Amino acid sequence: MNPPVFRFAPSPTGHLHLGHALSALTNFAAAKAADGRFLLRIEDIDPTRCKPEFEQSIYEDLAWLGLEWETPVRRQSQHYEDYAAALGKLESEGLLYASYETRADLARLITGRDPDGGPRYSREEGLAPAEARSREARGEPYALRLDMQEALSRISIPLFWNESGAKIAAEPARWGDVVLGRKEMPASYHLAVVLDDALQGVTHIVRGKDLYEATAVHRLLQELLGLPAPAYRHHRLLLDVHDKKLSKRDKSTTLRALRADGWTVSDVRQAIGL
Ligand code: GLU
Repeated sequence: MNPPVFRFAPSPTGHLHLGHALSALTNFAAAKAADGRFLLRIEDIDPTRCKPEFEQSIYEDLAWLGLEWETPVRRQSQHYEDYAAALGKLESEGLLYASYETRADLARLITGRDPDGGPRYSREEGLAPAEARSREARGEPYALRLDMQEALSRISIPLFWNESGAKIAAEPARWGDVVLGRKEMPASYHLAVVLDDALQGVTHIVRGKDLYEATAVHRLLQELLGLPAPAYRHHRLLLDVHDKKLSKRDKSTTLRALRADGWTVSDVRQAIGL
């Protein structure tokens, strides 16, 4: 039997905070307990938000927490060709289309909401076809979207995922026609995360509850791309004093700020309830 494979997959868009420590330590402990492997993956496909100094601080903070991970670390920005190939497969199967709405267009046109509260895109609510064609002719930027209805017609439904041993019905249609790539970027979070977990042989995905709903999209992509379905567990989120999810924007709970204030690793463990 191959050992189970766990991973922690942060995006270097800010310094890690206590919520990341909970995720990383939970994965590491689960891997240890199961005689499994623990991987670190840097999810840096967004060149405008990801910074080398944040990646460096991820390594420092995780080492300080006492974690050890396999090397080389997979950095998504070095693997665009893998994501482009997956997009190409979906495109050749008639599952993708280009949509030319700007953010402002989406705010004006789209009435439905996805589970994260963002616009739930459907072609009927999008730009009029003539306007889309003229933007295409001008070579304007576009998003490559998954044709959700068509995609669902290609797989056997209902679709499920394994959440801590329970069978959960996945309803990806609640996300509308999700973006899987862009004109200048042959990848998106959903596409890259699903592909990398499969390429790295990840068997157990342990991550925060903020990604629970996205799992429906991930299961659909796994089916469409012929990838195995890992087991999932979405852990509690740490909240700030205003009961909001901790954010990288809030500097006071970053691990490096706490460390500079004299916190020890056991202070961290206690603060996050481990
Ligand atoms: N890169 C994602 C984040 O930092 C996590 C991806 C995942 O665990 O599936 O929020």
